[in-house]
Parts: sequence; structure tokens; C-alpha cells
Amino acid sequence: MITSQQKAIHERALVLSQNFRKLESDLLSILQEVDREKVYLAFGFPSLFEYAKTALLLSDSNSYLLMSVARKAVQIPELKKEILLGNLSLSKAARIVSVITTENKDEWIRKASHLSKRELEREVVKEKPEDVRESTRQVSEDRLCLKLGISEAFLSKLKRVQTLLSSSQRKPVSMEEALEHSLDLYLERKDPVVKADRAEKKALCPGRKTGGMVHVAKREPLKASLKHQVFLRDRGQCGYTVHGRKCSSSAFVEIHHKIPVASGGQNQIENLITLCSAHHRYYHTQAPHRSFLAPQIKTGNRC
Ligand SMILES: [Zn+2]
Ligand SMILES: [Zn+2]
Repeated sequence: MITSQQKAIHERALVLSQNFRKLESDLLSILQEVDREKVYLAFGFPSLFEYAKTALLLSDSNSYLLMSVARKAVQIPELKKEILLGNLSLSKAARIVSVITTENKDEWIRKASHLSKRELEREVVKEKPEDVRESTRQVSEDRLCLKLGISEAFLSKLKRVQTLLSSSQRKPVSMEEALEHSLDLYLERKDPVVKADRAEKKALCPGRKTGGMVHVAKREPLKASLKHQVFLRDRGQCGYTVHGRKCSSSAFVEIHHKIPVASGGQNQIENLITLCSAHHRYYHTQAPHRSFLAPQIKTGNRC
């Protein structure tokens, strides 16, 4: 027996869920525009994911789902349409992003709308066995659980490091310790910030004697000592700043000349800035924004 009050509540719930799907579909459309027009870069975010998370205040998982479906729906607009119609949930649409193509789209959309989440998972893994989404999850106050897909070769390398480390420490070590040790070794050798720190500690940085000004001929490659100063000053983080918000990404950072060498820019610390590769590319390809860093040199401001 359904009362008229229960029926009215149910109808309101139906309207809201329809609005919710419309909202998801609209969010997908706007994220496609944000992506196409590089809005996230202009606002100082290194990726669409960071923009969705930080600027739009969406959760990590919603940001990931919306971003992956928005990008795939550029080639396969049916994904967006089926979400709007309520035939496909956002999470199921995201689950088939790695396998759906313009040729097999009908088959995958049908599977995603009819199969349970677990059955769909099984089908996707059958099609693309190595598709493991890398993720981290907080499991206690100071511990995380890391999930990643690895190859047999990776596992044997990890076990080899584990054996070597166990014998050098004369006690059994965990996979985590073996992995951490390998990461430390890599960072020690390759991280420009660690290298710069080391160089400064050893006082082997000749640029310091000239007060950070290292004048060199045009087109000369940057000297290691100068790179060290830039990495130390910027802490290896992207310095793209807009409306007082700094990108600060430390992924794939590069050193950029604020005034290009071709326009008389020098290899001086004041003319150099660390940028993430996304912002570096953006700076060199988006003509209207090309002057965004240059005025800071004239006023003597740091980046
Ligand atoms: Zn550059
Ligand atoms: Zn950046």
C-alpha cells in the first residue's frame, strides 16, 4: 500500500535524480571546454584533475571519473548522452573508458548499462588484462595503501633488491623498505633539488661568488651551478602564478627563460624560473599570455 504522501516523496526523488544526471552531463560538457581552452593552465593548475579537485572542490574520485569520461566523450559523445538518459552511471562510464572505441562503442555501452559493476569489471579485465588503476588510500593516520599493476619483471627486480638489502642489513626487510631504498637512491642521484642542496652544502656552487649573476654568452647551455641555484630558490616547484595562486607542481619541471635568449634574455638567476612541463608548453604556445612573467623582471620581483 503506497500512501499519497509516499508517492509525492518518490516523485520528488525522481525529479532530483533526473536533475542530478543533467548536472553530471553539464559538468562533463564544461570540463571538455575547460580542457579544450586550457582554462586550468591559465588559472595556475598543472592538470585538469587538479583543477576539478581544487578549483571546483570536487572529490578525488569524482574529479577522476568526470575527467576521464569528459575526455573520452570528445570522441564518443554517446557516453554523455547515455548518462543524461540514465542508462549509464558515471562510474560505469569511467570503467569502460580504457576499452571503448568508436568501433565497439555500442557493445560496451550495452554491457555497461546491463551488467553489474562486478560483471563489468570482469569483462573489462578480460579485454584489457593490465588495466589496473593506480591509487592510494589512507588506512591509518600516517599510513597509506598503494595499489598498482606491475609486471613479472618488476616483481623479480623488487625481490632482488629485497634480497640484497636483507643481506646487507643482516635482517629480513619488507617490500616497502626495498622500494623505499630504491626510491631514495634514485632521488639522491637524479632529483635536481637534492643535487642542488648537496652542491650548496659542499660549497661547490661557483655562482654564489658572483651574487647569483652568471653572465654567459647567448645560447650557452645553463651551467649546473646556475641550475642548482634556480632549483634551490624555487624548490623544484612550478612558479606559474595567477591571481596570487601558484601552481607549485613538482612534476616534470623545467627551467624557463622569462626573457627569451633570442630577445636578449640572459642566463641569470633573475631571468630563470622553474615551470612544470604543462605550464612551460602553455607559456610557449599561448601567445596572449606570453608576457605574464616578463614584467616581473622589470620590477625586480621574484617569481
Ligand atoms: Zn621556456
Ligand atoms: Zn605548473
